[in-house]
Amino acid sequence: MEKVDDFYQSVLSFYDNASKHANVSEGIISQIRSCNSVYRMRYPIQSAKGKIKVIEAYRVQHSHHRLPTKGGIRYSNHVNQDEVMALATLMSFKCAIVDVPFGGAKGGVKINPWEHSEYELEKITRRYTVELVKRNMMGPSIDVPAPDYGTGAREMAWIYDTYRAFNEKEIDAAGCVTGKPVSQGGIRGRTEATGRGVFYGIREACTYKDDMEAIGLTQGIKDKTIVIQGLGNVGSFSGTICQDEGGAKIVGVGEVEGAIYDKNGIDIHKLLKYRKKNKTILGYPGATSYDKEKRDIVMEFPCDILIPAALENQIHKKNAKKVKAKIIAEAANGPITSEAEAILNKKGVMILPDVFLNAGGVTVSYFEWLKNLSHIRFGRMDKRFNENTYSAFVDLIERSTGKKIGKQERDFLTKGGDEIDLVRSGLEETMITAYTAIRAIKKRKKNIDLRTAAFVNAIEKIGSDYSTMGIFP
Ligand code: NAD
Repeated sequence: MEKVDDFYQSVLSFYDNASKHANVSEGIISQIRSCNSVYRMRYPIQSAKGKIKVIEAYRVQHSHHRLPTKGGIRYSNHVNQDEVMALATLMSFKCAIVDVPFGGAKGGVKINPWEHSEYELEKITRRYTVELVKRNMMGPSIDVPAPDYGTGAREMAWIYDTYRAFNEKEIDAAGCVTGKPVSQGGIRGRTEATGRGVFYGIREACTYKDDMEAIGLTQGIKDKTIVIQGLGNVGSFSGTICQDEGGAKIVGVGEVEGAIYDKNGIDIHKLLKYRKKNKTILGYPGATSYDKEKRDIVMEFPCDILIPAALENQIHKKNAKKVKAKIIAEAANGPITSEAEAILNKKGVMILPDVFLNAGGVTVSYFEWLKNLSHIRFGRMDKRFNENTYSAFVDLIERSTGKKIGKQERDFLTKGGDEIDLVRSGLEETMITAYTAIRAIKKRKKNIDLRTAAFVNAIEKIGSDYSTMGIFP
């Protein structure tokens, strides 16, 4: 397998390829290519047993063409400077593609979060926050972290609490981090957001009959067979929503402990319960199990759509030829290396690129940040007003037709939008609009793939910001 360090080179290679098609001047192309600031830190923490451990961590702000910068924090043994730079670069493009007004950033802490106690994780997280606050590298208008691999709402709550301790009088302090628990200023729908965005993205791509016919598939997500690698936050929500709302059939799943396949379908809810109880997916009734050594076989399972939702570099030049899926939906960041991409393109596989497909997380993070700055829950002002207006319409229809509308139908027609409804609707709109734009660029430029089209879209938007703001003398 290619080295993890190759991830950044892959991102740059995608960028260099796309920049040839973008209508942006050479100087600005090199500005957008580079990471503006890279902060590497080392700090000690003391374990519950009194042992000192030195923690290696990073925060990279890729581009300041819009502020604040934004991007998750990853806890993983594989974290290194190049990886964080690659992820920060992708964040700038992602934000531009879904029209979220942020520059890109990313954080990384080189630890295996599953090997640390909650006590140690809290110390590591709070100290990481202090390091950023000390250097003015964090804040609602500066840089706003969020969850990524190995982190979630719990860590975001610690970050918020630590930031607030240093910025007691800042009224917008809650906007310093997103992905917080709802009770701490978080937003409903953030936890599922990336997976739900993956669903909207796949569903949208499958609606184009000509695109589907070109890869030998029928139109629509319904009944498509899906294989997922990684059953964490993104993988589990992608799977459950594609199954429940899209009517797709999950036939294979891969996790750290191994992989399972059942061509008749695996109920994803039952599988998640099974894994929680047995601490493994192996042995799931009715499915064929492959142990840890063979877990990468998940990439070769027969299916229509393969969803890598674990880590980068999972499809590389050695296994790309063996992929049987017609569509690869990049829920993870960077799961396909640039060398593998060339092989897959030759095979005619449709790749829905990470910079578009997993942008649901940052989109809903944007909604959360807006909620924090406006200090009001979405739907609070207009939900009842809308319900009363819709009710009056339904009453009018009943009176003028003389027919009674059933309770279920009435409830549906008169419902005002709650926060979760508005978040989902905003996310759906964002993913559809972004895919339409990327597909249009692909059609217009001819002979480019969707990733190149997505990068072109981002480079032109960021380039336009740089050109109009002027360069400081
Ligand atoms: P997570 O920690 O919740 O889940 C990752 C899962 O992958 C874990 O269950 C882990 O056991 C599994 N895994 C790790 N290595 C594996 C391997 N070799 N084979 C099979 N499974 C393996 O992380 P997440 O937040 O779901 O992130 C997953 C990916 O999605 C990452 O690339 C991340 O950068 C990307 N992403 C996450 C978000 C978000 O909002 N969380 C947003 C955008 C992109």
